[in-house]
Amino acid sequence: MALRMSTLFLRTLRDDPADADVASHKLLVRAGYVRRVAPGIYSWLPLGIEVLRNVERVVREEMLGIGAQEVHFPALVPREIFEASGRWADYGDGLFRLHDRRANDYLLAPTHEELFTLLVKGELSSYKDFPLSLFQIQTKYRDEARPRAGILRGREFVMKDSYSFDLTDEGLATAYQAHRDAYERIFSRLGFDYRIVFAVSGAMGGSASEEFLAPTAAGEDTFVQCTNCDYAANTEAVEIAGPKPASYDDVPESVVLDTPDTPTIATLVDRLNELSRTQLGGREFGAADTLKNVVLKTKAPGADKWELLIVGVPGDRDVDLKRLSGQLEPIEVSQAEPDDLALVPELIKGYIGPQQLAALKVRYLVDPLVAVGTSWVTGANAEGKHAVFVVRGRDFTPEGEIGAVEIRDGDLCARCGSPLRIARGIELGHVFQLGRKYAEVFGLTALGPDGKPVTITMGSYGVGVTRAVAALAEQTLDEKGLCWPRIVAPADVHVVATGKGEEALAEAERITAELEATGVRVLLDDRKASPGVKFADSELLGVPTIVIVGRGLADGVIELRDRRTGERREVGVGDAVAEIKAVLGGS
Ligand code: ATP
Ligand code: MG
Repeated sequence: MALRMSTLFLRTLRDDPADADVASHKLLVRAGYVRRVAPGIYSWLPLGIEVLRNVERVVREEMLGIGAQEVHFPALVPREIFEASGRWADYGDGLFRLHDRRANDYLLAPTHEELFTLLVKGELSSYKDFPLSLFQIQTKYRDEARPRAGILRGREFVMKDSYSFDLTDEGLATAYQAHRDAYERIFSRLGFDYRIVFAVSGAMGGSASEEFLAPTAAGEDTFVQCTNCDYAANTEAVEIAGPKPASYDDVPESVVLDTPDTPTIATLVDRLNELSRTQLGGREFGAADTLKNVVLKTKAPGADKWELLIVGVPGDRDVDLKRLSGQLEPIEVSQAEPDDLALVPELIKGYIGPQQLAALKVRYLVDPLVAVGTSWVTGANAEGKHAVFVVRGRDFTPEGEIGAVEIRDGDLCARCGSPLRIARGIELGHVFQLGRKYAEVFGLTALGPDGKPVTITMGSYGVGVTRAVAALAEQTLDEKGLCWPRIVAPADVHVVATGKGEEALAEAERITAELEATGVRVLLDDRKASPGVKFADSELLGVPTIVIVGRGLADGVIELRDRRTGERREVGVGDAVAEIKAVLGGS
């Protein structure tokens, strides 16, 4: 049945909603696709639910296509299940918690690892039952700190989540690849411009983890893309190339300088340039010539004490704690407090140098930018003193390297050495090798052929279904309104009847009926409204092909408009249906 605008539950708005700053959010509200109930909580209206279903359909088809089987879990979950995995405590404020009439605690699940694992454990027990992949398309609840951009970051949202269950690491790698391929098909079919980026750095050798991002300025994720090769990573996982090891044959012996009152890089650089007029060969110093030693602390899982970790980076760069923690996981890392520093009195704030750290047994790592053989100005481990010509490999040797600096546009690709560009994107999906964590917690094993139990290894795969609607709107919209790819559009064709007489409407009805009879989805504007209002709405709503039935009828023609390109052409009334079908067939 055609969607008739005279009766459709739809009211478009001329003005942007006051709480919206992202274009897709404004348009989805103005075009009557969604309505806000509370921050991050939205209702879906007929056109919106149509688009959401279309996205869901593509996702479901591709999941079934790789042999994943559909299940459905409750959103309401008893506390004990999350207690067992530790997430009742770990999830913190992000979890919606509630209780029943008997004062038992419940939560609204933010994801369903526990339930998937328990379900499989309850049903299966033999190696013959594996491999297995299960998925659901289901509503998640997260009390996001900053719900944003309407449905882009909701507190209630629909996710497709799947899990693979395998006996071996090779099995997991195969399941992971199948999901990754399916995600490529999903995002291509939906019409996304997307990138696959590393979510953990390869250097640490962890399990595979990749994100699918839709590049757009409205995105909250920052990622890095090589200008030459196909390397892309989120800024937490990116690896950059440092300089090659340098020869330090010509570097003089290191010298300690008096640099009173220079606890910051800026004050140090000023003092160096002052000194340089009389010594140090008159050279110009900058922050990049200094080695900054940032004091952090780490705690291994289960450990009761924090340990100091000092990280050396060039003085013109900041340490990116998120990037560091991604690499150190599951070890926790945070900034050291003055109290932590006080435990090692030899460490003098503002004047720390790496020269003595090995002797003090303080763990010291450097960013790869601090290459072997490079010479630095750094603290001399005495109040008011710095040392120059301090060479890595001669005057100090770190325990190792770790990518620590905040990434900059123009940093060099670790793969090919070309400059990297920083861009913003929306995370559409995430595939990763979860491994045996949940299987171990819940004792998910299968009896192997030899009668011994094998712990199952799992993969975890998510697609933000509601987010995909907003992200697609964001990537395709223009100044006039939404502009859907046909596969998700609420209709294939938007037939607009204009003009006063009955003839236009009768003709529009005929074309609609004929199109529908051949399976074309039609949105018919049969309202008694001015052509201006109808044209504006057709542009706002974003159906890809617009058919204007009105003034041209006097000359026996109707007009076809392509919503995306704006291209218009007239065709004879008698050919209308065939011409429209040709347009649909060709896109
Ligand atoms: P983000 O970093 O954006 O918070 P996440 O890493 O927490 O996402 P996952 O737990 O991996 O996300 O969830 C899988 C997918 O669900 C994400 O790739 C994203 O598309 C979607 N998603 C996550 N949080 C939200 C949200 N608050 N609103 C809408 N979609 C979301
Ligand atoms: Mg999140």
